[in-house]
Amino acid sequence: MSDIIISLRDAVVSYREDVALQGVSLEVKKGELVGVMGPNGSGKTTILTLVNGLGKLLQGQVRVLGNTTENGFPTALRRKIGYVSQVHNIDPRMPVNVEEVVMMGRYGKLGILRRPGTMDRQVVAKMLHLVGMTHLTERPIGHLSGGEQQRVAIARALAQEPDILLLDEPTTGLDHRARVEIMHLVYEIHLARGLTTMMVTHEHKTATALCDKIILMKGGQIWDRGKPGEILRKEVLDRLYEH
Ligand code: ADP
Repeated sequence: MSDIIISLRDAVVSYREDVALQGVSLEVKKGELVGVMGPNGSGKTTILTLVNGLGKLLQGQVRVLGNTTENGFPTALRRKIGYVSQVHNIDPRMPVNVEEVVMMGRYGKLGILRRPGTMDRQVVAKMLHLVGMTHLTERPIGHLSGGEQQRVAIARALAQEPDILLLDEPTTGLDHRARVEIMHLVYEIHLARGLTTMMVTHEHKTATALCDKIILMKGGQIWDRGKPGEILRKEVLDRLYEH
């Protein structure tokens, strides 16, 4: 069996007249941690959307864990893909605590009519422990720092017990220390859970140390790709971000 579990072949995506991806091909092997970088609007999020089975292809093919997107991903497959989005501003009055937010990650497995059981609670507790949030289990979600909220978002995605983890700029808006901490946390969880991970990030320096492979996007195309040390050099990045 092939160890390639994510592949895009000549993927073309367009939102009305904008072409977001123009013929992107890539492969990710089981267990890889892949960083996706590039200027705003270059198509990074669109790649994650395709891998998550939600993108609309004009052309090409997406294959994830042996399934193609032609008819939409089956629910069983969607559950194997965890997604962590950018930091959101959460209303401090939101009446939901940390544990309840992470439990939402179980709903795909529970089905909406079933109540959480002992096993669900155990998984939630385990994931909260993994992200270092056990001490804040009862805290309302709106009373957390940005870094803590991202830890909860990661725990929620993990509560699904995914094989693939997708993260879209998980450190944007955080201070330097929290950014570095979250990047290292993603790395540790990636290894500990045996995940295959794709992360959109602007953290060039940390990504160089942690990622197995980097994909650089520009103008809806892959501009360069390779091992972080080879392609995340200053002169390469200066060219990538110049207009
Ligand atoms: P990035 O993640 O690199 O910032 P995106 O994948 O979000 O880039 O976007 C790629 C292009 O597609 C951009 O030109 C963006 O404006 C456009 N785009 C993204 N989402 C939508 C949408 N829902 N409707 C219309 N255009 C969109």
